[in-house]
Amino acid sequence: MDRKEAIHLSDDEIEFYVDFELQSSGGIFDEKILRIEKHIIDCDSCAKKVSYEMKFAKEWEMWLHTSHKKNNNGLILGALEVLHTKLASEEIKNKVERWISTWKGYGQAAMKVLFDEQENGIRKLTGFIFDGMKGLTRPDSDWVFDYSTVLEPARDSLGDSLERKKYNEVFLKTATDLLTMNMKIKKSENKLEIIFSGLSEYEELPLVLLVSEVGSCPDIREFAFNDKEKKWVCIFDNLKKGRYTLAFEPVEL
Ligand SMILES: [Zn+2]
Repeated sequence: MDRKEAIHLSDDEIEFYVDFELQSSGGIFDEKILRIEKHIIDCDSCAKKVSYEMKFAKEWEMWLHTSHKKNNNGLILGALEVLHTKLASEEIKNKVERWISTWKGYGQAAMKVLFDEQENGIRKLTGFIFDGMKGLTRPDSDWVFDYSTVLEPARDSLGDSLERKKYNEVFLKTATDLLTMNMKIKKSENKLEIIFSGLSEYEELPLVLLVSEVGSCPDIREFAFNDKEKKWVCIFDNLKKGRYTLAFEPVEL
């Protein structure tokens, strides 16, 4: 091993390699890829990480493709019914009743949330997924989410920057475009944060439902108005690693 190879691959390099392998049709010469490949051949520990990442990325892809078949609003409806018996606040209880009876459990918007922590030095995925969630969403909803992006240096010699999606950070676009809504998973704080700006403190904001796929009780939260920053904030803290479905109560904003 020369000196270069003695330095292990970073998480970013592994992610870059896995992305490249899964997306490219092959045959593209890339110096960075060649360097990574050369390292993997000599280094068992990095090869192990790469193979784990590759497996996980493929599973995620497969899960994305099949998840729409499993989706129906029964998941949200069931969660709301469980919560209804437990809720202490009459106000939230009334909203949940309306969500069940008027909206039959369909959300204004729904998405998957993946929250996975670092484990034995192997990085897992954290992010939002919208694909295949139509079955949980009310038909006339105008909420469209998009991932935030960052600019990455080019992979080729042409020097064009690449836009990379940030899966843990999304924003909402509506038909009116008056709303600014950001959702972010803060991994280090075990926290999911949703912020609405551009809405007055007199608006009625939707409840947010978070249903864990590992069987722990669903959680429902309200937005609170932050007077200082003039923003509506909803926070789920103490998140445990796993997969969740998140849904917004149908509300006209
Ligand atoms: Zn290595």
